[in-house]
Amino acid sequence: MTDISMFIDGEYRNAKSGARFERRNPLDGSVATSAPAATPADAVLAVEAAHRAFAGWSQTGPNERRRLLLKAAHALEARAGAFVQAMARETGASALWAGFNVHLAAGILTEAASLTTQIAGEVIPSDVPGSLAMGVRQAAGVVVGIAPWNAPVILATRAIATPLACGNTVVLKGSELCPETHALIVEALSEAGLPQGTVNFVTNAPADAGAVVEAMVAHPAVRRVNFTGSTRVGRLIAQTCATHLKPAVLELGGKAPFVVLDDADIGAAVDAAIFGSFANSGQICMSTERIVVDNAVADEFVARFAARAQALPLGDPREGPVVLGSVVDMSTVKRCNALIDDALAKGAKLVCGGKAQNTLMPATVLDHVTPAMDIYREESFAPVKAVVRVNGVEEAVAIANDNEFGLSSAVFGRDVARAWNVAQRIEAGICHVNGPTVHDEAQMPFGGVKASGYGRFGGRAGVEAFTELRWITVQTTPRHYPF
Ligand code: NAD
Repeated sequence: MTDISMFIDGEYRNAKSGARFERRNPLDGSVATSAPAATPADAVLAVEAAHRAFAGWSQTGPNERRRLLLKAAHALEARAGAFVQAMARETGASALWAGFNVHLAAGILTEAASLTTQIAGEVIPSDVPGSLAMGVRQAAGVVVGIAPWNAPVILATRAIATPLACGNTVVLKGSELCPETHALIVEALSEAGLPQGTVNFVTNAPADAGAVVEAMVAHPAVRRVNFTGSTRVGRLIAQTCATHLKPAVLELGGKAPFVVLDDADIGAAVDAAIFGSFANSGQICMSTERIVVDNAVADEFVARFAARAQALPLGDPREGPVVLGSVVDMSTVKRCNALIDDALAKGAKLVCGGKAQNTLMPATVLDHVTPAMDIYREESFAPVKAVVRVNGVEEAVAIANDNEFGLSSAVFGRDVARAWNVAQRIEAGICHVNGPTVHDEAQMPFGGVKASGYGRFGGRAGVEAFTELRWITVQTTPRHYPF
């Protein structure tokens, strides 16, 4: 078991009350981590520390900010082994997934470092003679980042990297399910030498999440909020942000459609669908959830997809390399078993896998899924996949869009012009033609539409989200007034 601390004003700290909570390993129930259970008052201390640090950090030159963020990227990579162990203990994730998390998170810090000199404004033509009018981007203030457990290193790093690059100071609220993994990120930033109070980290017991988040959002020094997590909690946070008029970036749930047109390269489509469906046991917001396949190629696609799916290695990630590790908890197993029962009762065909007894869930494929079945529209967030058969492009587009979510999507077809036109009609923030639904790069505008949230992380879009665009003028000649 690992005991972790919060990080407030440059110091490792416990909650003022001394209270702690535990995260247990999903496979054997052993205590993985003990972490401080912050009260709203502790969270406010973190915001105040960030507020005090803002004056200095926002005025720190871009090359110094870049140097520190690059150091943090290296410090993060140097902890790869610790991340692999922490993620296996806390969330049951495979070493493959943990390694990818560290690699991309280091890339996010490197990209953020490169942005420090790219926070550009503009000179805008003014109708007032002699007025030099500018649109100026400035750091906004304290940014609160709230991150989930499923891609823990990537998403918590994303929550704070571009905000820091832009000159904001941050408070990261860790996930109750992986406090040690999130603490390791903050340790790397602290080792890199970011000034006292620039980065703060709070952890809370599950029951206190709402109160802790509300206390931070309500604080006047907090000027931006970003949240990655479920649509249910995203709606609550959006309401809190609305009450306090705080702009938010919300990256929420997904139910990514993967469209296989009748001219698709089936081998390439199967490879992409296997990766997108089963990476991290399907617990990725971009996971392929609905395979929408044309009847002309459906038999071949399903046979080849199922053959690959059932051969994927499954096991305890602490004992050796696997593709499918443990899912995060038994509630995932229960939810998916109910989805499978419901689909089978309504006429779906189980092609491989099936119900699980513990958190080692097999790759499961349900064919002939229809809108009457719960799995047609609900996020499984697990290795349980729905195949919906369609006739032609129009039906494929209609089924792909028949969902409340709109984060990632994919279209496979050899006629790239036709596939591109399908991609343009899919209601999702992200669409890949002849590529997997699971694909993230630090410099890309990442985000969703509909119930998948709003706002974008990544590259210039991230700079826009985490800076204030101000209009500043300088009157360079005498000005004429009407009276
Ligand atoms: P979750 O929404 O349950 O929890 C995420 C965070 O919300 C945690 O830090 C938690 O403390 C906090 N929280 C919980 N209740 C709260 C409340 N009442 N008020 C304020 N904060 C509260 O999500 P999860 O189960 O950890 O993550 C899985 C979900 O996240 C899935 O739906 C997945 O699709 C989504 N997700 C989205 C993206 C994306 O980029 N769009 C990425 C990864 C995961």
